[in-house]
Amino acid sequence: MGTNLNVEEIFAKNVFTVGKMKEYLPEAVFNEVMRVRSQGGELSLETADVVATAMKDWAVSNGATHFTHWFQPLTGITAEKHDAFIKHPDAEGKCLLEFSGKELIKGESDASSFPSGGLRATFEARGYTAWDMTSPAFLKEDAIGTILCIPTAFCSYKGEALDMKTPLLRSMEAVSAQSIRLLRLFGNKTATNVTAFVGPEQEYFLVDREKYLQREDLVFAGRTLFGAPAPKGQELDDHYYGTIQERIGAFMKDLNIELWKMGVTAKTQHNEAAPAQHEIAPIYETANIAMDHNQITMEILKKVANRHGLACLLHEKPFAGVNGSGKHNNWSLNTDDGINLIDPGDTPNENIQFLLVLACILKAIDTHADLLRLSAACPGNDLRLGGSEAPPAIISVFLGEQLEDVVRQLVETGEANKLKAGGKLKTGVSTLPDFEKDATDRNRTSPFAFTGNKFEFRSVGSSDSIGNANTTLNTIVAQAFSEAADYLEKADDFNTAVHDLIKKYFKEHERVIFSGDGYSEKWVQEAKRRGLPNAKTMVEAIGALTTDKAVELYEKFGIFTKAELESRSEVMYETYAKTINIEAHAMTGMSSKQIIPAVMEYENMLAQTVNQMKAAGVKPEIPLKMLKQINDELTRMQNALERMKEERKKGISIKVQKERAFYFKDNVVPAMVSLRESADKLEKIVDKQYWPFPTYADLMFEV
Ligand code: ADP
Ligand code: MG
Repeated sequence: MGTNLNVEEIFAKNVFTVGKMKEYLPEAVFNEVMRVRSQGGELSLETADVVATAMKDWAVSNGATHFTHWFQPLTGITAEKHDAFIKHPDAEGKCLLEFSGKELIKGESDASSFPSGGLRATFEARGYTAWDMTSPAFLKEDAIGTILCIPTAFCSYKGEALDMKTPLLRSMEAVSAQSIRLLRLFGNKTATNVTAFVGPEQEYFLVDREKYLQREDLVFAGRTLFGAPAPKGQELDDHYYGTIQERIGAFMKDLNIELWKMGVTAKTQHNEAAPAQHEIAPIYETANIAMDHNQITMEILKKVANRHGLACLLHEKPFAGVNGSGKHNNWSLNTDDGINLIDPGDTPNENIQFLLVLACILKAIDTHADLLRLSAACPGNDLRLGGSEAPPAIISVFLGEQLEDVVRQLVETGEANKLKAGGKLKTGVSTLPDFEKDATDRNRTSPFAFTGNKFEFRSVGSSDSIGNANTTLNTIVAQAFSEAADYLEKADDFNTAVHDLIKKYFKEHERVIFSGDGYSEKWVQEAKRRGLPNAKTMVEAIGALTTDKAVELYEKFGIFTKAELESRSEVMYETYAKTINIEAHAMTGMSSKQIIPAVMEYENMLAQTVNQMKAAGVKPEIPLKMLKQINDELTRMQNALERMKEERKKGISIKVQKERAFYFKDNVVPAMVSLRESADKLEKIVDKQYWPFPTYADLMFEV
């Protein structure tokens, strides 16, 4: 407890940081690595050999026995295959350790069991992993020992992306290049690179591990598939920011230490709205490292939870009736000469640049709302988006009162000179007020909110990789920047042209701005009137990925080929149907092996009571009434179960992935809902002693 914790000492202890590289590498090699890291290209094999040996020496001196190419296939989680550093023993039987540049740079493995959506036939099983020099290597310490993890991109033999990292890196390059074009137009000659920075806030639930293990739904599906509400939910708002319980506090302390060791900038921690729900947020980093670190965070959340006799639920909706979990993806674009493009700045020139960036972002979000929506689609998120707890599935942008007013004036008159709480603004003449982070009221119902110097994309699911969201954001914004630059580079009078363009974009895409209550039915209607897309489910959203518009966009910037897009949409349909199938399967097991037998046992007890009361000469009115009510509900449950099993069988017999996914959504999911309804009614009337697994109250209030 009271032991001193030296955070400066432990931070990044397990990371082969730039500092350590400098210490372990000869100067020329270090410089070469830094050059390739920032400018791209490849290391020569000789250089790679030196780097690999240094990395191995550092890792081994910290207890490492193996290395792995750590990558992020389309399963949404990470993958690793360990290789020991040992090499063939010499004639005297002595074994030396070795790690070559070749092994560092490129890995090759049988990858046929990772989802590829048909990109790779099983006989072309080869998958390649390539070192991502922009994300540092790190050590994972576990019961298995210490493993040197090398962040890698994962591709097929033909170079098609099979992972989350490859497209994200491609999109970061695209948005950087297009941002630089705009910056040059505004006279910036110093910036050479623009980086997407991301800070993902991660929500999660913690439950007691013993209880978790008693629920097959939690174990197999990550969420409760049955469960009547506890007497209390989150209505008193007494959990949000509440005092952190000792058991949870001990967990958080360990979690931070583990994360800091891995170089993850764990910064904030607090209790969230739902009982047993919490949040952790890091300090923002480059999108690429943020993605890697978020994966590490999810893994460590689970690991440390186990250590504390807890189970960490990352599912978007572990419990019905209380808030689910998301990931708020805070995103901004920053130059290497210190300018945040999402920051309004202080000078008129910066203001105009900001307004143009803003206009482009509005255009990007409006034009590709379907893609942004899709980027946050995963099966669990269907239960969260639109549930009056997370943003609706309709994508809109929240700007805050001041900024929205500026946009309105620019659209109406071409100038903004009546500033709310600020000076006078005529584009290109005077300045914007400070859009202080706190001056803009928060709108928790908005999917995409401006928060002073960044946008917060709030739709991402808690279990999902942030890869898709950021790849999409970077790409659609790169596209808008590129179109603006095409126009402005040709303009005779830049000032007039930029002014006109800002007005034009605001006017054309104003419809995507919304600051009202995103949870209201009124908004759903209003959005429909405005023509904004509303893909309520993942399955309905997937089509966005393969439209001509999407193919053209992604091919233009070399993010995805048409084949890669098709493969990804195939993987998504497949993942959806598989996920629902697992859930239906788990419900079948729990119904027929646990709930129904338990209810019958209780019925049996009631029947005995009836007989005993009769024998004693008393009218068994109450037990009879209960018996009848329970038996009626049990019959309904049994019927619902049969129907769900039928639907599931039909679903899995469909061969075309897309059709199968739609069948699961339209038929299996509603059947699951009916089954649950009956089971939850039974839970409320059956004696608790008979109920076969922990209830909502047990899970959420007795952690
Ligand atoms: P909250 O929304 O919970 O009040 P903040 O919005 O201040 O918290 O921060 C949430 C996340 O946003 C953190 O990860 C933080 O590092 C990140 N963040 C802050 N500024 C930026 C920025 N300019 N670009 C990207 N992320 C940022
Ligand atoms: Mg925030």
